[in-house]
Amino acid sequence: MKREGPTLRLAATDVTTFAACARATTLDLDVANGTRPRPPLYPDPSAQLLRDRGLAHEAAYLARLRASRSVEEIPDHSPDAADRTLDAMARGVDIIYQGTLRAGPWLGRPDFLVRVERPHGAWPWSYEPADAKLALTAKVHALLQLCFYAELLADVQGVRPAHMTLVLGDMHEETFATARYEAYFRWVRRCLEQAVASPPPTYPEPVDHCDVCDWFSACDARRHADDHLSLVAGITTSQRRALDLLAVRTVRDLAATAPDVRVEGIGDSALVRIREQARIQVRGRDEGKPVYDLIAGVEPGHGLMRLPAPSPGDLFIDFEGDPYALGDGIEYLLGIVEPAPDGASEASYTPLWAFDRAGERAALRSRCRCARYVEICIGSSVVPRTRSRPSANASPDHGVSRAAGGAGEGRLC
Ligand code: SF4
Repeated sequence: MKREGPTLRLAATDVTTFAACARATTLDLDVANGTRPRPPLYPDPSAQLLRDRGLAHEAAYLARLRASRSVEEIPDHSPDAADRTLDAMARGVDIIYQGTLRAGPWLGRPDFLVRVERPHGAWPWSYEPADAKLALTAKVHALLQLCFYAELLADVQGVRPAHMTLVLGDMHEETFATARYEAYFRWVRRCLEQAVASPPPTYPEPVDHCDVCDWFSACDARRHADDHLSLVAGITTSQRRALDLLAVRTVRDLAATAPDVRVEGIGDSALVRIREQARIQVRGRDEGKPVYDLIAGVEPGHGLMRLPAPSPGDLFIDFEGDPYALGDGIEYLLGIVEPAPDGASEASYTPLWAFDRAGERAALRSRCRCARYVEICIGSSVVPRTRSRPSANASPDHGVSRAAGGAGEGRLC
């Protein structure tokens, strides 16, 4: 988002950001209008790592295209980039890399414009957008971005692209029919246009996008200053909305709620849980130290009650993984804590490192030989048993189905 005189220039990221969080659009608009300083970029090493991987993925796909088709690259941010892109389209270049499309206030830079033999008025060909994304499945924001480019292309070349393509992290190309998504895209774009023309009041409600948002520090500070209900650990958005209708809007409000209060939309046990959580957070704040309550009367099958009774021979296993290494990730460290047989001496810790698939599999197999049969349900459910020692338990905190490989889904032998 950028103001150029009276024109507010909007890009694809403005549409996807708005779809993720209207508050972010409000703040970005303030920056564009010069009424608020731009936030410092959050120095997040993992975000930088993802950016680097994304660029490498894009470069790898570009190299693949260059091997079989003519590619023209439009210099990034050159003032005549839109004209050069149009010129390359008119010449029928196979692939235009990082072209610029401009229509009214909208400005887009798709990774690739791909020539297809579908005529438009002046040329016997036209172009469709393609974007390289590191994700292994298509995400909503990626589709919105493609729709944005398709809309710009429709304006620039006079014919709407029939398809748009995502090049996913494993180089798989997934193609989407533009017509299926354009109605939703136009609705989001219309809402964005209204939001920047007449900004509504917005609040920094926490959303997934907060994890990668440069406004996080400002929004987090605002929530703390307001003692916002989202600070209650484990509270959900729908619970907050239900409480808001009763004017319960702060952690302290919730902590002070009488035990007999009922809230429509929140079950009794859920209400007790979040009220007690709020209460202990407020108490910790007031006393200036971490405090805790032991939960009495835990229901069987819930929380820690899901764990089986301790048994000699129990192993405590932790998997550390990198979801991007070697293409589809690797569990690179299997750490095992084994309590001493006498129950009194110090437990032993064994780290098993893996730097490739063979190492990953060997780490799992070598250690799991001691428990001849360990059954693990992936996710939240843990069903531990061993045949050799039926009372022994295993409680991994991550799924390992791929790592188990030939050992079978969710089962280590
Ligand atoms: S930090 Fe979260 S609430 Fe704040 S602007 Fe960003 S996405 Fe929105």
